[in-house]
Amino acid sequence: MIVRAVVVMMTAMMVVVVMIVCHEGSLAKKGSVMKAAELFDLTGQTALVTGASSGLGVRFAEVLATNGAAVVLAARRRDRLADLQARIEAAGGRALGVEADVTDRDAMRRAFDAAEKAFGTVTVLVNNAGVAQGPQRAIDLDEAEWRRVLDTNLDAVFAWAREGARRMIAAGKRGSIVNIASVLGFGVAKGTLAYAVSKAAVAHFTKAFALETAFKGVRVNAIAPGWIITEINRDYLTSEKGQGMTRDIPMARFGEERDLDGALLLLASDAGRYMTGATVLVDGGQVVQLHGA
Ligand code: NAD
Repeated sequence: MIVRAVVVMMTAMMVVVVMIVCHEGSLAKKGSVMKAAELFDLTGQTALVTGASSGLGVRFAEVLATNGAAVVLAARRRDRLADLQARIEAAGGRALGVEADVTDRDAMRRAFDAAEKAFGTVTVLVNNAGVAQGPQRAIDLDEAEWRRVLDTNLDAVFAWAREGARRMIAAGKRGSIVNIASVLGFGVAKGTLAYAVSKAAVAHFTKAFALETAFKGVRVNAIAPGWIITEINRDYLTSEKGQGMTRDIPMARFGEERDLDGALLLLASDAGRYMTGATVLVDGGQVVQLHGA
């Protein structure tokens, strides 16, 4: 009887020792220092980028694919998506173009379904699609324009984030949602009322949504770019008048598309594993400067 008790006790102690050793071992592994390429690696992730047919969306898709993610390109212009898909595949990546207007909820569900069928649950969602406001001052701004801007820049961000998060949670997967806000969500400029309001709302939405999905492993963050030169604004920003605007930017230049690569990878990958609800400003210092002081 006593011998049996001693054997049981010793066995239990050995089990505890083995558990402690294993736990310490896994802690050491978890806390080990990684190389940047490993830390920011997206292999095994399925990313979906909205508005991936031009400008920043194209860049975001290429950056995610280059760093290991299979990327679903969601936008309205099918021909452009086919070109980008071919370019990513030619570079050794995996991509799928899916035609979708972000304001169309059925198209949204079809895009997520297509992503799941091709590559598995979307675990990185980049809510990039956005529209600028027509050049109307506040008192002339008509409701149709206000609605158009808010539909795309805010309502669609809500709908796609909710759909993405629901699917990540249902599949039991951790994930990251990256919303694209703007410096105009922090400060305002004349003639941008609806756009500025939509982008401020995106930053606040990011916090509120993050709060309710954090415990399920879905991180939600935003990037607020300053003026970044892309195909639609290149002519103006590089003109003499446009160049004058760089006087208001402490780093004395506009951003380039590649200036957002680091922030995107940080938020999308495990490098940002303890970040949620944050809006990362990438603006050359533009919004910290007070004018007239
Ligand atoms: P862009 O016009 O080239 O890109 C916007 C993309 O969204 C386009 O591909 C467009 O077709 C797509 N889009 C618009 N409405 C859509 C809809 N209903 N359905 C599907 N796709 C739609 O401009 P960009 O500069 O690349 O802008 C990308 C994002 O970055 C936008 O959210 C924009 O507000 C934001 N942003 C840009 C800058 C900048 O200086 N370029 C600065 C701050 C924020």
